[in-house]
Amino acid sequence: MSQPPASVGRTVHYVSHGTPVRSDGSQAFPPTCRAAIVTEVDQDDPGRVGLVVLNPTGQFFHPLAAGGSAHADADEMLGGSWHWPERV
Ligand SMILES: [Zn+2]
Repeated sequence: MSQPPASVGRTVHYVSHGTPVRSDGSQAFPPTCRAAIVTEVDQDDPGRVGLVVLNPTGQFFHPLAAGGSAHADADEMLGGSWHWPERV
């Protein structure tokens, strides 16, 4: 991983899964970047973290004990992954 590893307390993006893909390939709600704070880092796999996701209408806890979240590049927009916030 060329980017710095995550550490507890850092703010990252979590990619929401979005709604199911329709038969025409579209989605009512596509995967979206959500603000998230790192709560844990897997000691054996530093790219995998536990997160609390700050959705506009509520929080979602995603601990390592439930599988955590793996890093993926921002341009992949892979549901369930995290990445460092894009520079805009
Ligand atoms: Zn993002």
